[in-house]
Amino acid sequence: MITGHSREKDIFTNIIKNKSLLNSYIFSGKNGIGKKFFAEELARSALCLEEKAFEDCECSSCTLARQENNPDIRVVDDDTIKIDRVRDFAADAHISPYFGKYKFFIINNAHLMTRDAANSFLKTLEEPSPTTVFILVTHKEASLLPTIKSRCIEVKFGRLKSEELAYILTQKGYEAAKASSISQVASGSVETAVYLMEQNAESMEAFQDMTFENTLTSLMKLKNRDEIKNYVFNLYISILESYKTTYDDTLLNFMNDLLLVIKRLEYNINTEMAKMYLLTKAEEVLSEKR
Ligand SMILES: [Zn+2]
Repeated sequence: MITGHSREKDIFTNIIKNKSLLNSYIFSGKNGIGKKFFAEELARSALCLEEKAFEDCECSSCTLARQENNPDIRVVDDDTIKIDRVRDFAADAHISPYFGKYKFFIINNAHLMTRDAANSFLKTLEEPSPTTVFILVTHKEASLLPTIKSRCIEVKFGRLKSEELAYILTQKGYEAAKASSISQVASGSVETAVYLMEQNAESMEAFQDMTFENTLTSLMKLKNRDEIKNYVFNLYISILESYKTTYDDTLLNFMNDLLLVIKRLEYNINTEMAKMYLLTKAEEVLSEKR
């Protein structure tokens, strides 16, 4: 089942009901928020024999889809999408669906198409078959050919809310309290959140060893926005672990400062300013710790 994205679910439930699916869509939005999964659920829903959109269903079409064996749903998930791959599914796109009303082609990370592949794919889009639905999934829609973009309807997916993210993490078997804290800093991305959950063991030592001098040294080494963000994430997790045993308010305030830095980094704050701010806040906390 899909968590979040309720607006998109409503839109596509109506589209399926009215049998008004179009030939090609682009699903765009941040990495790791469930766009590909949504595309797969959309395909399953549109092919469902009992017309249950986005609901649990045991019909033979849905069962095959869940086992990733429904021949009317093809997913391309390559590191580079080469022309041979495009030719292969383009040929398949002109054959009628095997069982269902439609045949779906979900192309994950569509921005990874080579130039040749993209040009070849454009030809397929120009001669659409009425029963074929292409879904291009991407977090870099600017890298798609403008001629491809102009032939697709773009659906922009928003970030997941932190409570939706926390729910997904607990479904994956992570501990609820930690999932809830990590969800606050993971910018609505499941991928980022899982990465942070897994980071934990390593970073736990970091805060214990933290002194003003080594914080300064570490900060000086950080070269860009992503490195600073990573550093702040790790710091956040290690402080969270300490907070859980000490309930020290200073740590809680510091964690809030770190959240602020992460937010500001997303809104393009100057990286040197972010480092200075971090250093000042770290100084305050560390002088308390002494
Ligand atoms: Zn079904």
